[in-house]
Amino acid sequence: MVINEDTVKALLAAAAPLIELAITEDIGIGDATSEAIVPVDKQLTGRFIAKQRGTVAGLPVVEALLKKVDPRLEFEACVEEGSPVEPGELIATATGPGRALLSAERAALNFLQRLSGIATLTKVFVDAVATTDTVILDTRKTLPGFRVLDKYAVRAGGGVNHRMGLYDMFLVKDNHIDAAGGPTPAALAAREARPDLALEIEVRNLDELEQALKLEPPPDRILLDNMDLDTLRKAVLHVGGQIPLEASGGVTIDNVAAIAATGVDAISVGELTHSASALDISMKTAATAVTMQSLIQEAQRLKSELDGRIAILGHHYQRDEVIELADFRGDSLGLARDATATDAEFIVFCGVHFMAETAAILAKPGQHVLLPDLEAGCYLAETVNTQSVDKTWQSLEKVLGNVEEQVLPVTYVNSSAELKSFCGRHGGIICTSGNAEAILRWAFEQRPKVLFFPDQHLGQNISRRLGVADEQMLVWDVQRPPDAEEIKAASVLLWPGACNVHRRFRENHIVMMRQRHPGIQIIVHPECCVEVVTLADDVGSTAHIIRRIDEAPPGTTWAVGTEARLVHRLQHRYPDKTVIPLADIPPYCSTMSQITLDKLVYLLDQVNRGKLHNEVVVDSKVSHWGRIALQRMLEQS
Ligand code: SF4
Repeated sequence: MVINEDTVKALLAAAAPLIELAITEDIGIGDATSEAIVPVDKQLTGRFIAKQRGTVAGLPVVEALLKKVDPRLEFEACVEEGSPVEPGELIATATGPGRALLSAERAALNFLQRLSGIATLTKVFVDAVATTDTVILDTRKTLPGFRVLDKYAVRAGGGVNHRMGLYDMFLVKDNHIDAAGGPTPAALAAREARPDLALEIEVRNLDELEQALKLEPPPDRILLDNMDLDTLRKAVLHVGGQIPLEASGGVTIDNVAAIAATGVDAISVGELTHSASALDISMKTAATAVTMQSLIQEAQRLKSELDGRIAILGHHYQRDEVIELADFRGDSLGLARDATATDAEFIVFCGVHFMAETAAILAKPGQHVLLPDLEAGCYLAETVNTQSVDKTWQSLEKVLGNVEEQVLPVTYVNSSAELKSFCGRHGGIICTSGNAEAILRWAFEQRPKVLFFPDQHLGQNISRRLGVADEQMLVWDVQRPPDAEEIKAASVLLWPGACNVHRRFRENHIVMMRQRHPGIQIIVHPECCVEVVTLADDVGSTAHIIRRIDEAPPGTTWAVGTEARLVHRLQHRYPDKTVIPLADIPPYCSTMSQITLDKLVYLLDQVNRGKLHNEVVVDSKVSHWGRIALQRMLEQS
């Protein structure tokens, strides 16, 4: 498990009485059916299988419940907490006395389905606001008795917990204000009673907001209750970032993105815990069920039958069982190089779509690049498209007159082939997180300004390292493009995209980590926001992170701010060092997870039958200019 021990301990402490209750109400004096039918010595293996796409939460609770029913039941999680699953995917197995297993089945599924349902819905909301810095908060609308579990599931889905109860934070609402005779006496009374607690105050309109801003000392957060989008925008503009703002009331999946776009810092969503549907998960005990081990053996057999005609490339964020089969492992830069080095006829890319496109651009004549799931995209890459970049380029031409001499386009490799081609056509270049510093240095030698897309955080972090002042960096707001003077004054124009995984790391994760583990070293990926990078001890690409941990002396302790699977693998690879994820429930890349072992086996089977399954092909003109931009990069790094 990647989640830290304290989190599991707190979860299981809260779950213990609920497990007792669930067993008592369901099994009672005994499972009449299983005891009558299943022989007492019959051993069974149950397989928990996802029947719909979702996010898993609650596996430690399932394990505790099974052990409570019968300590001989052996539980094995096949995915980690907070990880995405596809329909048909194996989540966990439980082996042991058949009677006990069947008796525990319903209660175990009830916990797993409920918590995974909450995590899944939370993830949907989190993804809907992924292009902004807004966080999704839960509320107190939890099932009685399930507060800790429900809120844990919210975190597993990428959300952030609001207060746990009435006891750990002040939230001053209209009724409190009326009772106290106004916002000022209410806030003063609260501060006086418990100065140690954070204070949030609810306002319903801009007048009340004005009053809340005058409070002395100021509140820690202001809740904007049931405001329309226009009022929210005005509130954000008025507060100007002085105090964090939370939008609340009437939030649905249809309007959450628009609310986030107003610039509020957080949005609380009651639906996460009061209306999440259970995730459809079943437990099968059929002897013929496919096991992970049998799939691995099948993949190895199919691969060896292709006898050197195939090369499997696996990104570091890939599932363990998939990356185990890879001939080349690496990050974007390493795999781009490996793709050019192999002569294999079939390059199977176990990564996301833009990576397969990059390999297709660099492929030799006669080579085919295949992706086990063509839908495996990248949130970051999808924050930008050719039309919007073309429009930006035209705006720059209008303001600067000679954009081709003034601005060099640089795209992070996490972008579509069309955007790489755009860079090739306009004298630009591609970078990865591993070579971004060298590439940006080169870019500034060519032209005075850089248009960097799509990751604003990477662009900002690397530009800072090169000495570019924050005032010279301009985030390009597509809805409200900057004016001519702002464009002329800027050295770096940043696209407002962000990685859905790395943007989740926050300053408070670092602060908490240092409190818990004095002397810990914190290393993060440069796709994290500038505040996190500033507080960390070290920052670097995936390859850099792996190297630093590898070279660190035994006994050292590291918190790593990057994708959960990589951190998990580092924990196992270096048992002589303590490696922990920077966040309690570290984020997974859900699109990487779409590459499952069964999809890889199917692809290998198709290739063995002479069929090109899921080939990634790039248009020749796009490929021509994309290759030029990629070659410029490979020459500079
Ligand atoms: S980790 Fe982030 S940048 Fe990498 S593929 Fe996933 S969403 Fe894209």
